[in-house]
Amino acid sequence: MKIGVLALQGDFAEHISMLKQLGVETEEVRLPSQLKGLDGLIIPGGESTTIGKLAVAYNLMDPLKEFGQRRAIWGTCAGAIFLSKDVRRDQPLLGLMDIKVERNAFGRQVDSFEEDLDVPELKQATHSSEDYHAVFIRAPIIESVSGDAKVLAAVPDGRIVAAQQGHLLATSFHPELTNDTRFHEYFLSLVD
Ligand code: GLN
Repeated sequence: MKIGVLALQGDFAEHISMLKQLGVETEEVRLPSQLKGLDGLIIPGGESTTIGKLAVAYNLMDPLKEFGQRRAIWGTCAGAIFLSKDVRRDQPLLGLMDIKVERNAFGRQVDSFEEDLDVPELKQATHSSEDYHAVFIRAPIIESVSGDAKVLAAVPDGRIVAAQQGHLLATSFHPELTNDTRFHEYFLSLVD
């Protein structure tokens, strides 16, 4: 299995090292040709406007949209924003997932926080019973899901922070910044 990590901007290196820990072959993706032969792709956290602008400049928009029709993609934080259909702002989006997102919904950098989340699908897939300790950094919320998208996790006040649509996954938080590999394992279970 070979998993790519979009390496235009953001914390792609942390995802790569998590995947390596799990014994998975990885590829840093900056060019459309580097998507060839990949079984799945992670879009990291960072700044979604920057990732979008660079994806346009590198002619990656259509290749990424096509990739997402067939293969698993997981967006964390800025990556989740980039996967979404609607952020109520004008910025390049892949529009692959039927989710509406509000950027920086929890406030500014100083309002970053951590929270234990009950994620039943994750527990089931990884045969574990522990809650997932999630790290939020200038995080978006997933305002709503529609179509085939379903909610995977919410913070205690009910705001949605993880969603899945078939082989597409979006999390507002950053599993690559923890020592818990379960979300990466969960993503790998979505890869055909
Ligand atoms: N606030 C960033 C954005 O709107 C996302 C932050 C992150 O990826 N940690 O794109």
